[in-house]
Amino acid sequence: MKKKILTVAVTGALLTSGSFLAGNGTILAGENGPNGPNYGGNETIKNERLHSYEEMVSFLEKADKRSEALELEVYGQSVQDRDLYLAKFGTMNEDNPTILFLTQQHGNETLTTEGALQLIKYLTSNGKNVEEIINNVNVLIAPRLNVDGAEGDVKFSLEDYVSGTHTRYNANGVDLNRDHVDRKQPETKALHQEVLQKYHPDYMIDLHHQGTQTTLGDTGELVSGSLLYPTNDNVDPEVREQSKKLGAVVYNAIDSKGYGLLSKYPGGSAPTISRNGLAVEYGISTLLLEMRGMADHYREDYVLGQKSNGYLIQQAVTAMKATLNALADGSIDSADTSFWETLPESNYEGE
Ligand SMILES: [Zn+2]
Repeated sequence: MKKKILTVAVTGALLTSGSFLAGNGTILAGENGPNGPNYGGNETIKNERLHSYEEMVSFLEKADKRSEALELEVYGQSVQDRDLYLAKFGTMNEDNPTILFLTQQHGNETLTTEGALQLIKYLTSNGKNVEEIINNVNVLIAPRLNVDGAEGDVKFSLEDYVSGTHTRYNANGVDLNRDHVDRKQPETKALHQEVLQKYHPDYMIDLHHQGTQTTLGDTGELVSGSLLYPTNDNVDPEVREQSKKLGAVVYNAIDSKGYGLLSKYPGGSAPTISRNGLAVEYGISTLLLEMRGMADHYREDYVLGQKSNGYLIQQAVTAMKATLNALADGSIDSADTSFWETLPESNYEGE
């Protein structure tokens, strides 16, 4: 496939404002890369702010300075020596449930991290709901595990990619979400040793993106996302049940939004995948949340126009906030998991 390079020269606008308009309908490419070409070609595009690595670090450091509630930790380094950050909220009291939100194991799945940064911002604000969450839940947020892939700073060519700016793989060309047993990559090794084995989360939501053309079963309706619990046979049935409850909380929160339409992700059962591996190895109740479309890919039908960014970021934030509230008030334990039995699996249009 021919590499499509779009216009540049808008980085300043991206850096200084939350969003901006491109009146001429040009796909705009800052250092975060274009998110085309899955858009009509002549509509106005609203760019949600996407954070480069440097901007993300600056965001986290500022939030840390501003907030007493946030504890920011560097838990490791990537192949290309970028620091990996963990944002911690809560008392870390052992009586409270601990949840980990993990984003961007795949570097081209950017909006999950944008959602995590919005959640961090929310948790550094004052208010009754935030207080309720922080007093009752230990919150761990690990934004952008694949910091090198997200920068396109890798040891292989991205010339086949639509924009050549973001990749699924880490700098060594390894899929980090297939490295949760061997942990040969520094990113996964650090996550296991310095986060999972240190803080013992009870729950984990792993946020990803999928292609743009995923539909709800054979309805032909495009979904905004997909969900799945751990499906490996060695997962303790109680852990799987609690994972399904976690899924119910997320499903109900997203389904009640106008943009929300979720399918069941047809995922595999390999323990190398975090959804399965963390449930088997540590007894963590896990949930995969896939969002629609990607920032960059070698397949054009996986790449989404930026006009969808706003609602997809909100979908991630909605899922995480609903989970925190359900953990804070204990309502997760009475979540109705019966929807899993009727939730249609994903299907794909045009493949
Ligand atoms: Zn992914």
